Amino acid sequence: MAGILSAIKLRETGFRNVTVYEKADRIGGTWRENTYPGIACDVPSHLYSYSFAPNPDWSHRFSPGDEIQAYLEDVARSHDVMEHIRFGDEVTSCEFDDRAWTIATASGRRARADFVIAATGVLHHPKYPDIEGLESFEGACFHSARWDHGVQLDGQRVGVVGTGSSGVQIVSDVVDRVGSLALFQRTAQWIMPQENPCYTEEEKRDFRLHPDRMRELRDEMSRGFTENFSNAVVDADSPQMAMVEELCRKNLETSVTDPVLREKLRPDYRAACKRLVISPDFYRAIQQPNAKLVTERIERVEPRGVRTADGRLHELDVLALATGFRVDRFLRPMRVTGLDGRKLDQVWAERPGAYLSISIPGFPNLFMLNGPNGPVGNFSLIDVAELQLAYIQQLIEVVVAGRCCGLCASEEAAERFERDRTEAAKRTIWMSGCRSWYLDDRGVPAAWPWAFDRFRERMAAPDLADYEMTA
Ligand code: NAP
Repeated sequence: MAGILSAIKLRETGFRNVTVYEKADRIGGTWRENTYPGIACDVPSHLYSYSFAPNPDWSHRFSPGDEIQAYLEDVARSHDVMEHIRFGDEVTSCEFDDRAWTIATASGRRARADFVIAATGVLHHPKYPDIEGLESFEGACFHSARWDHGVQLDGQRVGVVGTGSSGVQIVSDVVDRVGSLALFQRTAQWIMPQENPCYTEEEKRDFRLHPDRMRELRDEMSRGFTENFSNAVVDADSPQMAMVEELCRKNLETSVTDPVLREKLRPDYRAACKRLVISPDFYRAIQQPNAKLVTERIERVEPRGVRTADGRLHELDVLALATGFRVDRFLRPMRVTGLDGRKLDQVWAERPGAYLSISIPGFPNLFMLNGPNGPVGNFSLIDVAELQLAYIQQLIEVVVAGRCCGLCASEEAAERFERDRTEAAKRTIWMSGCRSWYLDDRGVPAAWPWAFDRFRERMAAPDLADYEMTA
């Protein structure tokens, strides 16, 4: 998503020599990799679209993953991006030598670049659970982001580990066709109810005839999302958070009839502390007669299924691991070397960081989209990437105008940003007492801890006093 955006916008502003490196043989990032049953985006589709490429054909308010994949391919094609992509060639290293970057790829190619934009994504490297005996399982076993579509599910005994957004979507989708379904829950999740109506043909025709209506809808959705959610998650005491909590609680009370199951599904932390799960039908799914919620700790996996701490063996044909992602990787495993031989691996040895999530001291003319500690999880990442790219383009302009050869954030600015960020994080809902992928090794949310409006303001124009320029 962010790589396509970069190519389009850079070319629009006159850059002719733009190469996009894609290790796979197809574009799409998250939407190419995640094809599990039930996958959809829980950001409304007219908001989860590029601002410059509204799509009248979205089928639903929250459209499924394959539609998003097709949309991204369509945008890339119609904006002539495809010819700039090198497919099937993984970037292995980027090295700065005082003037420019040398990009090396797995195929042995070496290319020079004045600027490098890392659009490598956040939720990309699957996190496999460390469960004893996992490899001994005789059935089919795969991660949610590596779904094996060759495996038949109909009538099978299916187990799902994990109750994040992925696990919940999988369960809701497959329950009606599998023989039995066991959901292994380590931590209960709050579920935000959400209707997902489809757009009628008439509405789509109207969007086609009046594209302005899509823009208005996008703005309206963006405003609603920002005010009611994005701006509010950073203040645990906000009235909006209380409202979200109430909606989730009511959803649980009114949707789950069996009091024992209801208590098993009731989280013991505040709603939106973990990334909020949005689902119209998870509670329906988990109450089906062929579904069971397993809350006993998983002890080990055996050839025939999953053994829980109470000694029970849950026999399975298929085991899906919806266990999330390693969220601290970003550009890695690429080897990135900046000024004076500085290695990114060493700079990020403790944890990844960057000034405004975009620039790393000592790494000139390297900029990240959806980099560390940015607004992730609770916003449209397309909006985020568009704002970041407009900011990055202003930095590139400084170099192109001849004011310097290269620029990156100063150590002082990066440290100040990190200090302020860590302090502000204390007030967020993410630090109200739960374990989640937002929290880094210190328990500090690796996320933008201020209102989204502040992010917009900071992205409007760079403060060049925070940057070091090289001659
Ligand atoms: P996730 O939110 O990190 O959830 C992972 C789940 O696996 C958690 O329930 C976790 O339990 C469980 N788990 C991990 N290791 C385990 C183990 N060893 N034993 C038992 N359970 C284990 O991952 P995700 O569901 O893939 O979602 C990741 C993010 O992707 C989301 O938060 C969201 O930002 C994005 N996403 C978005 C959508 C969308 O609709 N836009 C859809 C899917 C994903 P604990 O809670 O106890 O750690």
